[in-house]
Amino acid sequence: LGLGLALGMTACGSSEKTVDQEAEKQSAKGALVGVTMPTRSSERWIHDGDNLKKQLEELGYKVDLQYAENDIPTQANQIDNQITKGARLLIIASIDGTAITTQLQNAADNDIPVIAYDRLIRNSENVDYYATFDNYKVGVQQATSLLVGLGLKKPDGSEGDEKGPFNIEVFAGSPDDNNATFFYNGAMDTLKPYIDQKKLVVKSGQTDFETIATLRWDPERAQKRMEDLLTRHYGGGTKVQGVLSPYDGLSIGILSALKSSGYGTPGQPYPVVTGQDAEVASVKSIIAGEQYSTIYKDTRQLASVTVKMADAVLKGEKPEVNNTKDYDNGVKVVPSYLLEPVIVNKDNYKEHLIDTGYYTQEQLK
Ligand code: BGC
Repeated sequence: LGLGLALGMTACGSSEKTVDQEAEKQSAKGALVGVTMPTRSSERWIHDGDNLKKQLEELGYKVDLQYAENDIPTQANQIDNQITKGARLLIIASIDGTAITTQLQNAADNDIPVIAYDRLIRNSENVDYYATFDNYKVGVQQATSLLVGLGLKKPDGSEGDEKGPFNIEVFAGSPDDNNATFFYNGAMDTLKPYIDQKKLVVKSGQTDFETIATLRWDPERAQKRMEDLLTRHYGGGTKVQGVLSPYDGLSIGILSALKSSGYGTPGQPYPVVTGQDAEVASVKSIIAGEQYSTIYKDTRQLASVTVKMADAVLKGEKPEVNNTKDYDNGVKVVPSYLLEPVIVNKDNYKEHLIDTGYYTQEQLK
């Protein structure tokens, strides 16, 4: 009898635990997940939103997906509204990574976990996880492809046949986006030795992050800055031979300024222009021999990692992370999952973008 009782108690103890976990899993079923994306003005965020929604719904979650057209107060309202609507978890790709602390406090007060998506949310302890690509590596890859395009480096990493000097200009992303500094640091760390050895010359002398940053990643601002640079520093026979651009949208603005100034003709080819996101217009431009390269970040993968995280958190389990040191948001180091970015150019776009089903050949015609 004694043994039976003891066994019974053990069974009861462990089944209580199972009941708890079971209850948590049950209550996660059909829960509402709030997803906020920065803007529809860039294709990548449309893919991100669609992929997240689709994959969350496949697991039975309800999804409230919002876009804020790069307006900070709109995004703040959307997050507050999702909390009011009873969202049980928030996935946020922020516009200004420092501007939503109040909303995150509101979430924490309501026990709603938060996953920062692609862009780190800063200055708040109420960020539970972060899913992104290795942003520093994106910058390294952008700079590397610039060096390869100029012939200073070979694709295998060895020394290239060219010695330079080549004239280049450097652009950075939005100063309120934490990623922009990571891209910039990765790129500048890679370019600096070449600048020091005078194999690369930044004619304008503009390399400070603040000076070369592009608020809200706005293509028109980049175009305007490129026009100014060309007018002031590239008169007569002096040509620009490379432009480090951190995002396809900016590259389009930059190429358009170059075109107006006579580049893109047989006697005066375009400089080597980099990018990021493998957006359709830019991949077409790469195929046409205008933009040189882009960085491909498979938004399907990012959505999948994030959805796995969300599902685990909602079920009271521990999500998988692979980095717990690099992303300090000013208050804490946010446990992160980093994915691998890929350099894409005319030679390998088919392998990475078509064979993987990211785009169809038709879309790129
Ligand atoms: C993203 C990039 C994107 C940029 C502009 C960054 O936060 O990581 O993929 O090019 O925002 O939208």
